[in-house]
Amino acid sequence: MVQQVDVLICGSGSAGLCAAAWLARTGINCKILERSSGPMQLGQADGVQCRTVEVFESFGLAEDLLKAAYHVLEVAFWSSDAEGNLVRTNRTADTMPGLSHQPHVILNQAHINGFLLHDMHRSNGQKVDYGYSVKNVQVDSTAAAQQDAYPVTVTTEKDGVEEVFNAKHVLGCDGAHSSVRRSLGYKMIGDSTDAVWGVMDVYPRTDFPDIRRKATLRSNSGNLLLKPREGGSLARFYIELPHGTDSKNVRLDDLHHAARQIFHPYTLDIADTFWWSAYSIGQRLADHFSKDNRVFLTGDACHTHSPKAGQGMNVSLQDGYNIGWKLAAVLKGRANTELLKTYNLEREKVAADLIDFDRSFTKLFSSKSSTTNGHGPEYFAQQFIKSGQYTAGLTAKYEDSMITSASLSRQELAKGLVIGMRFPSAQVVRFCDAKAMQLAKALPADSRWRVVVFGGNLQNRANAERLNKLAAFLSSSAGPVLRFTPANNDIDSFIEPILVLHGSRVQIELEQIPTYFWPVTGKWRMRDLHKTFVDDESYNSGHGHAYEKYGIDVDEGAVAVVRPDQYVSLVTGLDNHEAIGQFFAGFALRPVVAA
Ligand SMILES: Cc1cc2nc3c(=O)[nH]c(=O)nc-3n(C[C@H](O)[C@H](O)[C@H](O)COP(=O)(O)OP(=O)(O)OC[C@H]3O[C@@H](n4cnc5c(N)ncnc54)[C@H](O)[C@@H]3O)c2cc1C
Repeated sequence: MVQQVDVLICGSGSAGLCAAAWLARTGINCKILERSSGPMQLGQADGVQCRTVEVFESFGLAEDLLKAAYHVLEVAFWSSDAEGNLVRTNRTADTMPGLSHQPHVILNQAHINGFLLHDMHRSNGQKVDYGYSVKNVQVDSTAAAQQDAYPVTVTTEKDGVEEVFNAKHVLGCDGAHSSVRRSLGYKMIGDSTDAVWGVMDVYPRTDFPDIRRKATLRSNSGNLLLKPREGGSLARFYIELPHGTDSKNVRLDDLHHAARQIFHPYTLDIADTFWWSAYSIGQRLADHFSKDNRVFLTGDACHTHSPKAGQGMNVSLQDGYNIGWKLAAVLKGRANTELLKTYNLEREKVAADLIDFDRSFTKLFSSKSSTTNGHGPEYFAQQFIKSGQYTAGLTAKYEDSMITSASLSRQELAKGLVIGMRFPSAQVVRFCDAKAMQLAKALPADSRWRVVVFGGNLQNRANAERLNKLAAFLSSSAGPVLRFTPANNDIDSFIEPILVLHGSRVQIELEQIPTYFWPVTGKWRMRDLHKTFVDDESYNSGHGHAYEKYGIDVDEGAVAVVRPDQYVSLVTGLDNHEAIGQFFAGFALRPVVAA
C-alpha cells in the first residue's frame, strides 16, 4: 500500500535532523527514513562553528551543547626553525573577538545529532524510521504544479521488502552518495585533488605543551592540525600524507609514525586510537539543488569538500535550518510556495563559496604550496586568522528575493545590521526585570518574523511620536500584523514586535511604551512585558552598546525586519510604514477565513 506524507526526509544526518527539528517545533510531523539500523554512534565531524552554536541557541539547545563541548578559544602556530626544531611562532584568538557572542566548540557529531533527535521527539513525538533504504525518487512534474498534490514517489526497501510513499515534499539529506540525487539524474561537478590526509582521534601521551590547544604544526616532516576534543583526554590529528599516497593503502601505523615525526623533538606515545580514517580531498557541487520546487537536496548530497576546515556538518545543518522554516511556512499556509525557491538562491551560493574557501584553505595547508610559493610561517598565520570569519560561519549574505530586500531598505540607518546577513547579537537590558541578556535570545526559532524597532531615547519627543505612529500602524488593519495573522491567534504569533530603546532605563515608565509592544497574549490573556529592551548599563554585566554596534543613530532610530532564521530582511526608518507593509505583502498569505 502506498503511504501519503506531507514531508519525507531521506537520511537522518545533520541536514535531515535539523530540518526535522524545525518542522517538529511547528507541529508538522514528517516521515524520516534512515538506512542505518539506529542513530549514529560515532561521528566524523566535530567542529561546531559559532553560527551553528547560535542555531542551537535558537532551538534552546546551546546550554547542553556548550556544557558537553571543548571550547576553542585560542589557536597556536608551530613551525620548524632553521635548526629543524619545532617552535611556536604565533598564537591568536581562534575567533576574532566580537564576531559572535557564541564560541567555536568541538563535539562529536553523534552527540550533536542526539540533541536534535531528542528535541524533535520532545516537540511533537517525531521519530526516525530506521532500516529504510531509499532506492528511487521520481517527481510527476505536471502534478507538481498543483499545490495540494503529492507528486513525489519515493521507493524504499526495508528488510528486503519494497515500500512506496507519495509525498508533497522530499528532502534529499542522504549524504555524499545520495540516492535522491542519483534518481533525479543530477551530477556532482568538480575535482578531486591528489592530496591525501589522514585523521585520527587518539589518546596522546606527550610533552608537547599545546596538546590541549588547537594548533597547526608545519614541521620539516609534514603538516598536522591538532584539535583537542571534549572530555579532556582525546585529541584529533589531521595529517597530510606524502604526495602520491593512495588513501586505500594507508594504515593506522602510517598515521602514528607520521604524527611522531611531526611532533619531534617532543615525544608522542599514542595510548589508544578511538577512530581513524584516510581520505583524498575533492571539492564538488551538484549541478542542481532541487526539482520542481518539490524535492530539495541538502548537505553532502549537494556539496562535498575536505573535512579539515570543519565546515561540512555546519553547512549541512544550516541547509536543513534554511529549508525547515520555509517548508513549515508553506505547509501552514503562511507563505506562498514561491518561498521555497529562495532555498536554492540562498544555499547554492553558500555551497559555491564553501567549495572556493575549501580550495584555498586546502592549498594554504598543503606543504607543497608552502614550499613552492616561498611564504613563511607568518604568512600562514595571517591567512589562517583572515579565514576566521568564514570558518565561524558568519559570512553568508543572501541576495535580494521575496524575503530579503536591500532594494526597499535604508542600510545606512543601521550599518551593523547587514541586509541578507544574520542578525548579530548585542547585550541589552530587559525592561521588565532588569535582566542583562543577549538580544539573540529574543529571536528563538519558533517560525515567527520579528520587527525589531530601535526607537532611540524616549525622552526625545520626536522619537516618542515616531514610535507611537509606528505602533499605531503596526496594530492597525492597514498594517501587516493584522493582515497576516489569523483572527483567533495571538497578535504576535506571526510577526513579533521587539523594541530596543536607548538611554537610562530607570527614566522610562511602562506607560511611555506603546501597548503594541506589550500585547495581551497566551492562555491567561496577560500582558507580555518581555519584548522591550534598553541599551543601557546593567547591574552586573556592563553595557552592551547595542546602538553603537549596529551603527544606529539614537536620534533617528531604525527598524529591522528579521526572518525566522535570524537573517536581516529589511532595514528602514521608523516612519517608513509603507516599506514594512510592502515587504510582508511580497510573500505572506492572508489567513483563509472559514465560511
Ligand atoms: C573525517 C571527517 C571529519 C569531518 N570533520 C568535520 C568537522 O569537523 N566539521 C564539519 O562541519 N564537518 C566535518 N566533516 C563533514 C561532515 O561529516 C559532513 O559534511 C556532514 O556529516 C554532512 O551531513 P549530511 O546530513 O549532509 O550527511 P550525513 O551526515 O552523511 O548523513 C546522511 C544520512 O543519510 C543516510 N543515508 C544515506 N543513504 C541513504 C539512503 N539511500 N536511504 C536512507 N538513508 C540514507 C546515512 O546513513 C546518513 O545517516 C567531516 C567528515 C569527515 C569524513
